[in-house]
Amino acid sequence: MKLLRCRICDELVRLRGESQSCQCGASKGRYLDDRDVEISGPCELYGVRSIDYFSGEDWSKKLFRIPHFHPTT
Ligand SMILES: [Zn+2]
Repeated sequence: MKLLRCRICDELVRLRGESQSCQCGASKGRYLDDRDVEISGPCELYGVRSIDYFSGEDWSKKLFRIPHFHPTT
């Protein structure tokens, strides 16, 4: 699954079908379909495997950066 990390408030936001924004409101994003996401604002895209996310352990150490070449504003 994919998450965005806002560079301003440093919050990690798990993306869903409807638009989600971080606590400061500068960054937001959503899933367009099962695979593609759209993000906007001063944020970076991260991924984590579902098995890690739901394992009950600290998944924040298992995040990997996803290059995102088509940010929308
Ligand atoms: Zn923010």
